[in-house]
Amino acid sequence: MTAGGVIAGIDIGGTKTAGALVSREGTVLARAERETPARLGGDAMAETAAAVVADLAAMGGPPAAVGVGAAGVVDQLTGEIRAASETFVGWAGYPLGERLTDRLGMPVRVENDVNAFLLGERAWGSADSGDALGMMLGTGVGGALLLGGSLWHGPHGAAGEIGHTPGYGDLACTCGRTGHLETLASGTSIARRYCRATDSAPLSARVVATRARAGDDVARRVFLDAGRAVALACVSAATLLDLPLAVVGGGVSSAWDLLEPGLDEVLRDQPPVSGIPLRIVPGALRSDAVVLGAAALVADLPTLPTESELVREPR
Ligand SMILES: [Zn+2]
Repeated sequence: MTAGGVIAGIDIGGTKTAGALVSREGTVLARAERETPARLGGDAMAETAAAVVADLAAMGGPPAAVGVGAAGVVDQLTGEIRAASETFVGWAGYPLGERLTDRLGMPVRVENDVNAFLLGERAWGSADSGDALGMMLGTGVGGALLLGGSLWHGPHGAAGEIGHTPGYGDLACTCGRTGHLETLASGTSIARRYCRATDSAPLSARVVATRARAGDDVARRVFLDAGRAVALACVSAATLLDLPLAVVGGGVSSAWDLLEPGLDEVLRDQPPVSGIPLRIVPGALRSDAVVLGAAALVADLPTLPTESELVREPR
């Protein structure tokens, strides 16, 4: 790793595009955020990402390279978005890496946002093994795989989509199928299940968590079921791939105290047959995980010394 030169990590999500200027050691030096124009097409979203980089540069100087974590299936070699949800208009097929490189005039790397999350946790967070499953519980449920120290993309760049594996009930999933892990473990599903069971008006998973902590039995049950489902998915992945670790992030993971009983129950009753204990741990980087992971994508890119470093260099 070359010393000197800050880097930038950008997280392009469905509602906001967040960015951070990051040191090569993973310290956040500055932050910026803009609304994602998700319905206005690829160019508008790339322009917003470039504007966030400019905001960061104005605060802490221009970065040497930019890493991007983006929602959707990403070709990490070219930085093209291969597939995306309906939230993003004109995103599938968009050559994000190429356009941003041209626009910014600096090296750019693009990854799927959940892959970036796991990479961030591996670089500077709680992934203390190079073989791990990453899972993000947010609006949906995303997954990522780290095998032998490297992200595993699969031949189509679509590996790790554990949120859309079946066998978890009979509710309709956002993808149109039925009974996917996401229908139990996403924030949206937690809120929806609680509302259905109690006949209450729409509310957020955060409110369900608050009620669970206040002793609401239905709310506790919904989180218990989510924890069990997450653990079952982790055990399946660990059994298949000999993984000792799963790192769980995303907004819902802030209710770890409520997920943990379900996680512990499954780990106790259904441990991997290998006898190798599986640990399921919360991500340590919280809401910074994707921007830090995006920065980690370019942390090893060599940079030329800056002018001030050349001046300071002893002759
Ligand atoms: Zn699904």
